[in-house]
Amino acid sequence: MKTPTWNDEQVFGFGMALGGPAKVLRPTTVEQIADAFAKVKKDGGSVALRGAGCSYGDASTAKGGRVLDLTAMNRIESFDPTTGVAVCQPGVTVRDLWRRAIGYGYWPKVVSGTMAVTMGGAAAMNIHGKNNYALGPFGECVKSFDLLTPSGQQLHVTAESDPDLFHAAISGFGMLGCMTRLEIQTKRVHSGRMRVYGIVAQDLEHNLQILEDMHGEADYLVSWLDLHAKGIALGRGIMHRADQMKPGEDPEGLRYFEPSLQDVPLKMFGAVPKGWLWPGMWCALHFGQVPLVNWLKFQAGSREQKHSPYLQTHGAFHFLLDYVPRWQWMTKPGGLLQFQPFVPKAEGARVLRKLIEMCHDAQHVPYLGVLKKHRPDKFLMTHAVDGYSLAMDIPVPTSQKGRESLWRHCREMAEIVLEAGGRFYYAKDAVLLESSFARVHGEDAVAKFRALKQKWDPERLLQTDLSRRLGV
Ligand SMILES: Cc1cc2nc3c(=O)[nH]c(=O)nc-3n(C[C@H](O)[C@H](O)[C@H](O)COP(=O)(O)OP(=O)(O)OC[C@H]3O[C@@H](n4cnc5c(N)ncnc54)[C@H](O)[C@@H]3O)c2cc1C
Repeated sequence: MKTPTWNDEQVFGFGMALGGPAKVLRPTTVEQIADAFAKVKKDGGSVALRGAGCSYGDASTAKGGRVLDLTAMNRIESFDPTTGVAVCQPGVTVRDLWRRAIGYGYWPKVVSGTMAVTMGGAAAMNIHGKNNYALGPFGECVKSFDLLTPSGQQLHVTAESDPDLFHAAISGFGMLGCMTRLEIQTKRVHSGRMRVYGIVAQDLEHNLQILEDMHGEADYLVSWLDLHAKGIALGRGIMHRADQMKPGEDPEGLRYFEPSLQDVPLKMFGAVPKGWLWPGMWCALHFGQVPLVNWLKFQAGSREQKHSPYLQTHGAFHFLLDYVPRWQWMTKPGGLLQFQPFVPKAEGARVLRKLIEMCHDAQHVPYLGVLKKHRPDKFLMTHAVDGYSLAMDIPVPTSQKGRESLWRHCREMAEIVLEAGGRFYYAKDAVLLESSFARVHGEDAVAKFRALKQKWDPERLLQTDLSRRLGV
């Protein structure tokens, strides 16, 4: 097999606003990762670990540096149909996993809004799904992982064998070592479809009330928000609730255990390639039509509510964003920034309302808002709170002045979130500074994380643009 070489490439975050040139290596074996660590150490540099590059900001970029892209290590080594446990190389994607599992009646417990993310990236960021309030983050379905440390040690880590390392490497944004194999628990599903409800929420408080009313019974809850709406309609949106089927409840749904019936179609109406859709979205964004598009979507919500519940495949429910390939290109040339604050429940309505109003005042109105409910977890660099998150996608202006204005606006919003005891999620962050790191996690957690970094990576071989920004 050919030995991979370092290539000069452009490496950006998913939002295309951060990143730059880097030397990239795509290893196919653990030995090649170890060799790369040794070489970079000898040369006196640092290296960033990267999965599919789905983090919006700079979590897997290293401008002017080196990047280890793990996507070529994408083999599912085994899947046990009696337990639903998969053993995966780090570059296996969520799509690879569900395609392997669904035929046996299993589905990943926690998935993101795109199926492109890798197991390594999902664990390192400890991603959450639309069921975070119920099942917790991705880390809670990791049974074990193998970690190659910068010094070349290969460790097999479980929550029992080394609880500190387990709970810090998961959530530790690739700072403690490279996960080279992960053992993932999936969950049983009794149909290839779920029962889905569209529910119109007239404002932010209504949205939050629905989350509180339904979270005890619903398997998944997520709300799309029209963040252009103001006044009494501020924070309005459409909540989607999805419930799994009980055994025998949907015999017809067994047909949808066929992977091709779960995947997103490549064409719209069977004819138009979906790759052609983003230019239309580009026009809507750049010619000021987002308020109209949002208004139309909100109106369509009443019709959906009338026809609810309806049946939808797991793939269609979870991966709506994958329906339009390269949709992020609609924000070119500036790219996009996602700002996703996590706010404690008691402060949820006040803080989120304030942030939406600030976006209007600053004229940086997000074209997309997504509201979720969360619960705390045990991972060291956790982003979760007992409360809510609101992901806001904001186009980045092309001018330097506009860019600075957006970053200033986001930092002002971050201040309000931090004052309220909120947190941030590094897969989505682009603005926090070193001074905020301890405010997000608390002094004790940060000291513990720094001590683990010192223990496993004393020469700071693993660095990303994010880790440098946070002073890790
Ligand atoms: C359209 C879209 C929707 C999304 N929806 C959600 C969502 O619903 N919920 C959510 O939580 N997130 C969501 N995300 C964010 C995404 O899940 C995270 O950014 C995830 O970490 C991306 O995985 P990746 O494989 O692309 O990793 P990358 O983004 O390439 O890397 C993420 C981090 O993992 C580290 N890393 C990568 N591989 C390894 C490894 N083998 N060992 C150790 N560290 C490693 C990197 O250094 C980096 O710090 C979404 C992203 C997109 C683009």
